[in-house]
Amino acid sequence: MTHTNADLFARGQQVMPGGVNSPVRSFRSVGGTPYFVERAEGPYVWDVEGTRYIDFVQSYGPGILGHAHPAVTDAITAAATKGTSYGAPTLGEVELAERICDRIPGLEMLRLTSSGTEAAMSAIRLARGATGRNTVIKFAGCYHGHTDSLLAAGGSGIANQGLSGCDGVPPGAVADTIVAPFNVVPEIDETVAVVAVEPVAANMGLVAPAPGFLEGLREACDAAGAMLLFDEVITGFRLGYGGATEWYGVQPDVWAFGKVIGGGLPVGCYGASREIMGHISPLGGVYQGGTLSGNPLATAAGLATLDVLDRGAYTELERIAARLADGMTAAFDAAGLPASVPRIGPLVGLFFDEAVPSNFDEVQAIAENGIYPTFFHELLQRGVALAPGPYEILFPGLAHSDEVIDAALEAMREAAVATVG
Ligand SMILES: *Cc1c(COP(=O)(O)O)cnc(C)c1O
Repeated sequence: MTHTNADLFARGQQVMPGGVNSPVRSFRSVGGTPYFVERAEGPYVWDVEGTRYIDFVQSYGPGILGHAHPAVTDAITAAATKGTSYGAPTLGEVELAERICDRIPGLEMLRLTSSGTEAAMSAIRLARGATGRNTVIKFAGCYHGHTDSLLAAGGSGIANQGLSGCDGVPPGAVADTIVAPFNVVPEIDETVAVVAVEPVAANMGLVAPAPGFLEGLREACDAAGAMLLFDEVITGFRLGYGGATEWYGVQPDVWAFGKVIGGGLPVGCYGASREIMGHISPLGGVYQGGTLSGNPLATAAGLATLDVLDRGAYTELERIAARLADGMTAAFDAAGLPASVPRIGPLVGLFFDEAVPSNFDEVQAIAENGIYPTFFHELLQRGVALAPGPYEILFPGLAHSDEVIDAALEAMREAAVATVG
């Protein structure tokens, strides 16, 4: 063995805060030493010590086809031989933009970015520029990336670190941000530029929109002349073929996407109608750009991924997710471990309480009961990797065959019994 996880963690902590480049990976909220990944394929990751895990993290969403899908790696390899970034437009960007617009009802034009954070941040700037208003309403427990104005009560990104807010964000940066409880339509007045929401909250575990919530937001935004932003960075191209927009039949004014559309490479995008996107530079006065935006490797990976994700793929994804969620519920019942496993289409959550929470306060009370870290480690020891924090969801994908799901469920049955102790 050339390296151990413990050695790399010690070395990493000397040169990177927490030894990581994104906080949840540090295992802070579950304790212990993170596994350092050496390679991954399909439903599996292998760490540097040669241990194999069935992976339900899947990069927190991009790995919807499983790791190193041949169509994606072939596309990236072919693209790389033609150069990795030009600073000039390409066919791939046009095709990816067309493909995304085709699938999302009401989306006519978009701009590619390099992350979901940039997409959400830019969507907010667009809504403010287009309405000439400043106030942003967001919901507690919804995560929209790490831009200053959206970090207030931000769900998994900061909840996993036990932080209520974020140092270094000046009061001025959040002065125009109002945080409202998820699943209650807030009062929206004529100062509000935009109401930002994850149409299915997937950064505080999995919390479904209550019946009428999204429709209520649409109506209230219309009445006040405010824009509605769907942050579909997780739900887009995962919940279904046309994302949450198609699933719920509610159309926002502005969208943010990321994760799946980059096939594991750094991509995001934001978009709207042609009229609203006319505010974006060079057509309008809202500036936004990026050296690596529309990167040829990333667009190739995104196109290859969307090629696989036809309507039939979503039927299969939902079947896989149902097998997982039903099996988990049975495993927890059999062990006498109080838990709920909410599922919305292919999205699967996990709470160690019989009640299914409907907002961030309820989620936090459950997340802090201390069961998740115990179960997480019992399961990891048995070769199954969940996200190392109680505010994340599971990411079953097309690579999780019935055999793999059943092996994971066997491990979950044992881990549940061990957790009850
Ligand atoms: C992951 C995520 C983001 C941020 O995307 P990054 O690529 O990590 O910057 C934004 N919104 C939602 C809903 C997300 O899940």
